[in-house]
This record gives sequence, C-alpha cells and structure tokens, in this order.
Amino acid sequence: MEDKSELLNSEERSLNFIEQIVETDIQNKKNKGLVYTRFPPEPNGYLHIGHAKSIVLNFGVAQKYGGKTNLRFDDTNPVTEDTEYVDSIQEDIKWLGAEWVGEARYASDYFEQLYQWAEKIILDGKAYVDDQSAEIISQQKGTPTQPGTESPYRSRSVEENLDLFRRMRAGEFKNGVKVLRAKIDMASPNMHMRDPIMYRILHAHHHRTRDQWCIYPMYDYAHGQSDYIEGITHSLCTLEFEVHRPLYDWFLEQIYTQETVRPRQIEFARLNLNYTVMSKRKLLELVNKKLVNGWDDPRMPTITGLRRRGYTPEAIRTFADRIGIARRDNIIDVGLLEFSIREDLNKKATRVMAVLDPIKLVIDNYPNGKEEWLETENNPEDESAGKRKIPFGRELFIERDDFMENPPKKYFRLSPGNEVRLKSAYIIKCVNVEKDENGVIKLIHCTYDEESRSGSGTEASKRKVKGTLHWVSAQHAIDAEVRLYDRLFNDPDPAGHKDVDFKEFLNPDSLTILKNCKLEPMLANAKAGEGFQFQRLGYFSVDKDSMPNNLLFNKTVGLKDAWAKEMVKE
Ligand code: ATP
Ligand code: MG
Repeated sequence: MEDKSELLNSEERSLNFIEQIVETDIQNKKNKGLVYTRFPPEPNGYLHIGHAKSIVLNFGVAQKYGGKTNLRFDDTNPVTEDTEYVDSIQEDIKWLGAEWVGEARYASDYFEQLYQWAEKIILDGKAYVDDQSAEIISQQKGTPTQPGTESPYRSRSVEENLDLFRRMRAGEFKNGVKVLRAKIDMASPNMHMRDPIMYRILHAHHHRTRDQWCIYPMYDYAHGQSDYIEGITHSLCTLEFEVHRPLYDWFLEQIYTQETVRPRQIEFARLNLNYTVMSKRKLLELVNKKLVNGWDDPRMPTITGLRRRGYTPEAIRTFADRIGIARRDNIIDVGLLEFSIREDLNKKATRVMAVLDPIKLVIDNYPNGKEEWLETENNPEDESAGKRKIPFGRELFIERDDFMENPPKKYFRLSPGNEVRLKSAYIIKCVNVEKDENGVIKLIHCTYDEESRSGSGTEASKRKVKGTLHWVSAQHAIDAEVRLYDRLFNDPDPAGHKDVDFKEFLNPDSLTILKNCKLEPMLANAKAGEGFQFQRLGYFSVDKDSMPNNLLFNKTVGLKDAWAKEMVKE
C-alpha cells in the first residue's frame, strides 16, 4: 500500500519519471522537441477506472508540454470488438474532459499499410509463412532457459513466402492453416523474440473493414507500426509490455527511415484497486451473466458506472493525479477513490433534507394548518452557494433510527422526555408515542419551543441541545426510491485466488433498494446526474432513469471519512 500521507497531499508534486524522460527528450531536441501521445483502447469493453489513469497520463503529459494526443482504437481482433464499445469509449473520454486531436483513429485504417510493410519484411528475408498449427508453434517456443526449435518452414524462399502470404490475404486458406512469422531468433533469451506471429488467418466480420480482410495483424506488430504512422513520440503502456519492447523496436527497425519520428515505448504500473476486478473480460462476464445491471451499474468500476453512481470527472482526475505514475505494480485502496469524490462533492453539493427510513412525528402544540418556510444554507463550505427556504409544518418525517423509546446512556437523538434540534428549525421534545397492534411505533408526539427557531436571534434559538436531526415536512415531502451500494466484492483481491473463481467473492448485500424515502420538495426538479448531500446521510446523485413522478437516487459515497481518519491514526 502507498504511503497515505503522500497520497493525500495535493500540493504541487515533483515530475514523474515519464515527465522526466519527456523533458530530457525535449532538451535534446529529439523528434524536433515534439510530444505526441496516444490512448489506444481495444473496443472490446467499456473503459474502467484503470483506463482513466492511462487517459489522465497520456493526455496530461501532452498537454503539459504543448503536445497532442490521438485516440486510436486498437481494433485488430474482429471477434471481440463492437461499435457499442467504440461509442461508449469516446463518450467516456470526453466526459473525463480529455480532447484528442482530429477524428478518432483506428488501427484497422492502417491494415493496407501494415500489409505492405509485412511484404517488405518478407522481401528482406525477415519473415516467413509457417504451415504449422498454433499448438505446434507454441510447443516449439522452448522455455526461458531452453532455446526454441526452428520451424521446418523457416528457410522457405522469399518468393514462396511472398506467394503464400498473398494467397493468405486472397482467402485461399482456412483459419489457422498458416501464419506469417517474423524471422528473428529461436534461441533469444526473450521468448517474445522467438519468431513471433505477425499475421493469422481469421475469416471474420470486422466492425469497420467488414469482410475486406481475412488475415489480421497481431497486436505486437500492429501497435508500434501504428504509432509510427501517427508520428507518436512517446508510446506509454502498462508494465506487462516491458518484455515486448525489444520486439516493438525490432518491428520499427524494419521500416524506420531517418527524418521520421521514432516512437519510444515507455511502461508504467497499471492501476490495481482492492475490492474490485478490473479486467474487461471479467467485467464482461459480470454483465453477460447478469450479476450486475449492465456496464453502467453503479457498483462497477467502469467510467460509466462511476458516472451513474455520481462521481465527477474532477474527482476521477484528482484521484489519478494522487496515485501518480510508478514503475512498480502496487495496489491502491478503493478508499482513496472514495476520499476523492467525497472531497469534491463536499465543495460542490447542495445540502438537502431527505429521510430514507421515515417515521412520522407530530408537533402537538404547533398550529394545525400552519406552514412556514425556513431559511437554510445550501452549502456551509461555500458561501456563494447562498441560502434557500424549506417548508415546515405540524407533521414531519424523521429517520426511524433517530428515535429510541428506551435509549442507552449517551443517546443524543430523540427519546421520550428528551430534546433535540431539528436542523434549521426548532427544538422539539418527545412527549409520547403511538404504536400499532404489533407494538411498532407509528407516530411520535412532540412539543416544540416556539421561541427556538434557528437564526431567529432569540435566546432560545441559541440554546444548545446535544442532538440535531434532519427532517422533512410530511405535507410537502416527495417520494423517491434510493439505492444504497456496498462493495461489489467482499474480498480485497477477488481475482487473486488460484483455486477460487472471482465471482465467488461477490458481495450478496452490495445493493439495497429503499422505496419509501421522503425528500424535501425542491428535489422534484433535480436533473439526472446532479449530486446532493443528504444531511447526515451521505452524497447522493440522481439516477439517469429518474423521472419527475418516479425519482431515483443513487448513493455515491458516505459522509464518514474512514480512510482519512485511519490515516490520521497511523
Ligand atoms: P484489460 O486488461 O482490462 O482488458 P487492456 O489493457 O486490455 O485492459 P486496452 O483497451 O488495451 O485494455 O487498454 C487501453 C490502454 O489503457 C492501454 O494503454 C492500457 O495499457 C491502459 N490500461 C488498461 N488497464 C489499465 C490499468 N488498470 N491501469 C492503467 N492503465 C491501464
Ligand atoms: Mg489490451
């Protein structure tokens, strides 16, 4: 785990190692001092919080040094890709506030160029067509300590290779019957250099090129060459590609000419968060098996899920900045993400009255039919947010667990004979309760001190009582459904168990739906995505499916700052 005091400090930070490399390159006038990055998602799923880290890094570095960033879809695998993902990825990047230059690009736009370069590599005697199956090829790879075995097809003539490769493209062969391999070194200590596959045959429909191609380039070949085509100077990727870097450079070496930009691959540690999974394959499985309600389920670590939950782009960007860029893998506490959104909403969110588990209360000495509009602050953290008026009346709702008939010592909420202040309103005292035939309390009778209204300036208004409760006027209250969320997994590393499937660790209590909530009337006009602080309860945001006659709220995050508290203790 990171040093927490370091993470909480949002002061100006020192350069990360990637910025240091970039600054050195600029000083040395490498690539004429240009900084050009790309964000290269594969459109086979929705973006998640890990991608946000990569987005903030790629777009952030370019922006900092006056450069540019491309969005490039790495769409070399037609089987898993889909335009739904292409659209969602663009929406999520824009929402995060990043802007790519020009149109989105696609590796598939370069298929012809990549093919032409493959022919050149064949002509140079550095690639060959292999007729062996993928299984055999993989068996011949050897081990890290033992060299691989050369394919019997390795010494095919240039003419034969070229002819076969052209016939592969023309569709003469079935899937898997032939591959094109780079001719590098079967004894290389780096397994990725042992004649890696460049092209495979795949008779499949591609979401962009349709049925134009039946051979597809492998990621390692396509990625670096696409960087080169776009003039990318710094190709930032996650650590698992470090061992691929010699291959990235080898492929570039085959086509590089002086006077062009020579991309450089730099690896950084991916974001790992505890209590979640972040592989798109696993997230897709949760969606397909309906273990969550889609990619935008507020429990998902996807950008669209976080957005629906009520996260703001600012909070996600601050989070990405805080965790920084490291060269070693680490695990970040999901509490830090929650800290970032809480901090942002604390600054921005209007404080409102909402009662999630209501019980009715009547003020016996308050005049029947009287209504008052009492002033309350919108946000004590932000004076410019101003004030508003909320309705008060004889009948109110309060939270069921803010009342106890037989309280323990030091219970400062409402109980018979005890006084509390109603936030922005009066001091009340409980006189008795009414119960139904099962002994369940259905009505709390109180009296109020007419002189004690908050802000009225009287002695009684300044009187201190130990507890302050939130409330909603029963006559004015509007109904809403509120959804509470807990962690999706109840294990810190659900995907990290060798013998147990990650789905075994799904938290059965991750979603609680409350259907009978009472809100102050101004929330009837709240718009989808808008965030509020429900006084004493936490931060909540309006769900995208919310309608004026069917209000839906999602709990974004609680008020209690367990993470920062823990930090102070340490
Ligand atoms: P997954 O393993 O979730 O399927 P991926 O790496 O295959 O992710 P891509 O669509 O290829 O997903 O990722 C696009 C970019 O985002 C890549 O540069 C990748 O390195 C980066 N990225 C993906 N996951 C993370 C993460 N957890 N932390 C930081 N960057 C990430
Ligand atoms: Mg990938």
